[in-house]
Amino acid sequence: MAEIVVLGGGVAGHTAALHLRRLLSKAHAVTVVTPNADWNWIPSNIWVGVGQMDSTDVVFPLAPVYRKQGIEYVQAKGVAIRPEGDPADGRGAVDLVHTSAARQGETDQIRYDYLINATGPQLKFAMTPGLGPDNGHTVSVCTAGHATQAAIALQRAITNLKAGEPQTLVVGMGHGTCTCEGAAFEYVFNVDHQLREAGVRDRARLVYLTNEASLGDFGVGGLTFEENGFQTSSELWTASLFRERGVEAILGAHVEMVEPGMVRYETLDGAHHELAFDFAMLLPPFGGVPLAAYDRAGADITGELFAPNGFMRSTLTTRPRRSTTGRPLTGRAPTSPLVTTTSGPSG
Ligand SMILES: Cc1cc2nc3c(=O)[nH]c(=O)nc-3n(C[C@H](O)[C@H](O)[C@H](O)COP(=O)(O)OP(=O)(O)OC[C@H]3O[C@@H](n4cnc5c(N)ncnc54)[C@H](O)[C@@H]3O)c2cc1C
Repeated sequence: MAEIVVLGGGVAGHTAALHLRRLLSKAHAVTVVTPNADWNWIPSNIWVGVGQMDSTDVVFPLAPVYRKQGIEYVQAKGVAIRPEGDPADGRGAVDLVHTSAARQGETDQIRYDYLINATGPQLKFAMTPGLGPDNGHTVSVCTAGHATQAAIALQRAITNLKAGEPQTLVVGMGHGTCTCEGAAFEYVFNVDHQLREAGVRDRARLVYLTNEASLGDFGVGGLTFEENGFQTSSELWTASLFRERGVEAILGAHVEMVEPGMVRYETLDGAHHELAFDFAMLLPPFGGVPLAAYDRAGADITGELFAPNGFMRSTLTTRPRRSTTGRPLTGRAPTSPLVTTTSGPSG
């Protein structure tokens, strides 16, 4: 019998757990460890953020699903991975801190034969002073809760526009290292549509502020669509959409700071600019969630398992055993297998 632990009950972890339960016999145990009680279909947050969907439409509670499927569910966050176990038990282990109301803050440990690390992105609003809905001056659509706040802020801007007050709405990336351009691109056109529906588009200045070097780049160097033998680049396609809808684009921008009603950013030519806004939805840069790693003796191996940005090194699926001199050992299969789905998500 094998114990499989899935760390993170989001898009990847939840999907992996359901497939494992379907594919494996009941002799094997599948456990999901995740701090959240609800699952969120994150891509639909762009609809919540304009009030077209309610946050309850994009989330559902995990516990009943796992109960029905025969998947163990631990509401907790992982804080450390021990791929070689410890002197008492050679199986891998994850150190946990419980997050349910009943066990909030309690520490615990779970053993595994196989571990999937699907902990997703950490939202690094703090990399830009003044960014984000909690300690800053901008809204976000990264979580269902953030998107609900964004819809309220957008409605406020629409009310002002209806009262005849011109508004500048800025949508895009909150830092030069952001990687979720697709989500901001979709959201800016949802906002455009919402403003048109409200009959106030002509009074609104709508700006897409991005770190992309060209329109349609999406952080992946662009796309090519082929239809009937004719190829269209995503740059051509998106540029025509921006022009058709009257959405201004500022490219190659690194947001340095957000103050109330003002974004300060630097462009690729080194020039510094400012842009006044009434509504701003700027996505944060992502990193891996903070997880430590220890070897069998308890020595810190975090730097071996994780890249400096916190994402697990996806090429390293098992850690080679080391001799006491630190040289890798050959021969016997190493430690409990460990895979990651968190090598850098993008929208
Ligand atoms: C607004 C928006 C729109 C998007 N639209 C698209 C789209 O149209 N198409 C597309 O392909 N992608 C889209 N994306 C990107 C997509 O949502 C992500 O790539 C995807 O959610 C990543 O899945 P994941 O499971 O790695 O992370 P997540 O879905 O974020 O799940 C991570 C899970 O791990 C949990 N967790 C966090 N820390 C710990 C811990 N310490 N221990 C245990 N669990 C932990 C979290 O609570 C969460 O449940 C969009 C993203 C955004 C923000």
